[in-house]
Amino acid sequence: MFGLMQDWPLLIHRVIDHAGRQFGGREVVSRSIEGPIHRTTYGEIRARSAKVAQRLGRDGVKEGDRVATLAWNTWRHLESWYGVTGVGAVYHTVNPRLFPEQIVWIVNHAEDRVVMTDLTFVPLLEQLADRLPSVERYIVFTDAAHMPATNLKNAVPYEEWLAEADGDFRWAELDERAAAGLCYTSGTTGNPKGVLYSHRSNVLHSLSLANTDAFGLSSRACILPVVPLFHANSWSLAFSCPMYGAKLAMPGMRLDGASLFELMETEGVTMAAGVPTVWLTLLQYLQKEGKRLSTVERMLVGGSACPRALIEAFERDYGLDVTHAWGMTEMSPVGTCGSVKSQFADLKGDALIDLKTKQGFAFFGVEMKITNDAGESLPWDGVTFGRLKVAGFAVTKGYYGADNTDLLDEEGFFDTGDVATIDADGYMRITDRSKDVIKSGGEWISSIEIENLAVAHPDVLEAAVIGHAHPR
Ligand code: AMP
Repeated sequence: MFGLMQDWPLLIHRVIDHAGRQFGGREVVSRSIEGPIHRTTYGEIRARSAKVAQRLGRDGVKEGDRVATLAWNTWRHLESWYGVTGVGAVYHTVNPRLFPEQIVWIVNHAEDRVVMTDLTFVPLLEQLADRLPSVERYIVFTDAAHMPATNLKNAVPYEEWLAEADGDFRWAELDERAAAGLCYTSGTTGNPKGVLYSHRSNVLHSLSLANTDAFGLSSRACILPVVPLFHANSWSLAFSCPMYGAKLAMPGMRLDGASLFELMETEGVTMAAGVPTVWLTLLQYLQKEGKRLSTVERMLVGGSACPRALIEAFERDYGLDVTHAWGMTEMSPVGTCGSVKSQFADLKGDALIDLKTKQGFAFFGVEMKITNDAGESLPWDGVTFGRLKVAGFAVTKGYYGADNTDLLDEEGFFDTGDVATIDADGYMRITDRSKDVIKSGGEWISSIEIENLAVAHPDVLEAAVIGHAHPR
């Protein structure tokens, strides 16, 4: 017997519809690529994303087509995702930090029909365009006044292209399992691999991740996503912030300490999300200038292991709550968050910092296990380490256009390539990548531990352990 509740497909456009209706006046503030600060609202973004969808449709973009974006975090990039998915196509985020050869490979593999890009990347695309035969049109995120002369095929300034649509558009009717986003990861062996998110996986991931023990989003929050939309699905923030009505402060291309500090202060940012390197830069800026953050409560750190010294500095010297998160492109991308469970509510000092150096516990929708090489599950005792495997509604089951035989184990778990311990309280600690652990004599040595030791030295800013084959 089935339940008698509505089959309400989990589609991405429902997120921006909701944001437009319930949080229509909530702001999205961006440092524009042209320079000035730009202000808009979820109401306007909803209206403009309908125009993007309509206009793409008029250019012949159909369900399932791939539309690449090569762009910084701004309102235009955000609304393009909703427009692309709203016409039933797939946003394909291209990471400009990859080598040009990889970008060519990725765009060709995805067979992108359209590329939407920032002014910054026009020269790069001009160099590569000859080798991108699938691309029919380049849309530059700017207006006619700032549009450079370019020989890119059918290049148009976004604003004028968009103005040709009136926004009278009905979102595509799709199966919630339809593809919505494509992000290639280079954290693998061989060529980059395409992770293909669905509408359903993005909506469920964002719903779940926003819970208080994970990202803790609300309509009172103001979020600064330093994590780019082009990296790992922007930690879901492009969906979860509108879904929960959180104000967005988008940094554009200026990710230096002074620019981030200014945006945090002027916009009243409550939580900022980024990789450790970015926060190290910000910390240095605060220390050098003798400044403090007056509205930020929480710093979300992930993407690589957060050095203990960084957690200590933010927590002790600046009174910030540092939350360590872990995940990967293949997980939409977040898997765990290190907030403090009830049994640790009284922890203070070093013990609290110890807890925060762990990558945290899985929120609803992510299952974890650690196994030995034979695939047998290992105990959650905080000491035994093994291959970290995951399953859930937002975990990949195959790479786009690849041979996916044996990608999942017999229980349907995906091997993350990370090596971890999980303790009796469910907190996971990454000890290594299975591909780059250091073996000395007989024991494994954690590269992360060595990096942490090095970074703890006052004269060392960052450290990376580099693998090196040794005769012994
Ligand atoms: P990517 O798909 O490029 O985001 O890379 C994912 C990989 O980054 C994971 O499999 C981990 O190896 C690493 N990673 C992400 N977050 C963390 C973290 N908080 N601590 C340690 N490693 C991390």
